[in-house]
Amino acid sequence: MSLAGKTAVITGSNSGIGLGIAWGLAREGANVVLNSFTDRDEDHAIAAEIAKETGVEARYIQADMSKGQDCRALIEKAGVCDILVNNAGIQNVDPIEAFPVEKWDAIIAINMSSAFHTTAAALQMMRKAGWGRVINIASAHGLRASPFKSAYVTAKHGVVGMTKVVGLETAKEPITANAVCPGYVLTPLVEGQIPDTAKEYGISEDEAIEKVILAKQPSKDFVTVEQLAGIVTFLCSEAASQITGTAIAADGGWTSQ
Ligand code: NAD
Repeated sequence: MSLAGKTAVITGSNSGIGLGIAWGLAREGANVVLNSFTDRDEDHAIAAEIAKETGVEARYIQADMSKGQDCRALIEKAGVCDILVNNAGIQNVDPIEAFPVEKWDAIIAINMSSAFHTTAAALQMMRKAGWGRVINIASAHGLRASPFKSAYVTAKHGVVGMTKVVGLETAKEPITANAVCPGYVLTPLVEGQIPDTAKEYGISEDEAIEKVILAKQPSKDFVTVEQLAGIVTFLCSEAASQITGTAIAADGGWTSQ
C-alpha cells in the first residue's frame, strides 16, 4: 500500500505513540504534519529527520490542543488533511473529590474536545479531496474504567462516542472515522513509571510490570508504538474502507474481560 500524495496531521506527535504513527505513515509515503504545544528547535528537527529518512514532506506546526482555536488553526495551517490522527493526550490520577479542577479541564480539552475541533476543520478538506480518514487514539479506558482516572476515562469514552457520530455523519462518503483503543503501551512515559512502581511496592521491575502496570492486560506484554502505527496504516488502506464508527482494541485482551 502506498499513501503517496496523502497528507496526515498527527496531533501530539513529538514523542511516544504520535511520533511512532508519524514515522509509520511517512514510511508508507504520506506527507506528515507533526504537532505539539512547544516550538523548540528539536521539534522541527524531528520533522526534518523524518523527511530526510523517508523522502516525504514533513513539517512541525506548534498548536496547543487545549485551545479550540489552536486546534482549528493547526488544520488550516496544514492546508490539506487527508488523514487526521487525534493523538494528543495527558493524564492525571486522583480520587474524584480531590481531582484538581484545572487538570479536569485540561484533560477534557486536550484528550476530547481537541478531536471535535480538528475533525470539524478537517472534514471540509477531506470532502474537497474526496477521501479521508479520521483516526482517534482513544484507550482501553475509552471502553473500561479504572478508579482515580475520572477525567481520562470520561474523555476517552467521549472520544469513542464522537467517533461513532463522525462515522455515521460520513457513512455515505469515502471517509471513515475510527478509534484505536490501546492497552498499556511502552512509551517513555510508561517506561519511567517502571522503576518508581518497583520501588514503591518493594518488588523487582519485572514484577512491577506483570503485577502492577499490566495487572489488567492478560497478555502481560506491552503494546508497541510500531503495532499501533500498523493499525493506523491499515485503517488508511482500501481494505478498511467499510470499517467506520468503530473502536479497535489493541490491549492484549484487557477489554475481553
Ligand atoms: P506522550 O506523553 O509520549 O505523548 C503525548 C503527546 O501529546 C506528546 O507529543 C505531547 O507533547 C502532546 N501534548 C500534550 N499536551 C498537548 C497540548 N496541549 N497540545 C498539543 N500536544 C500536546 O504519551 P503517549 O503514551 O504517546 O500518548 C499518546 C496518546 O495515546 C494519548 O492520547 C494517550 O492517552 C493515548 N494512550 C496511551 C497509552 C499508553 O500506555 N502510553 C495507552 C492508551 C492510550
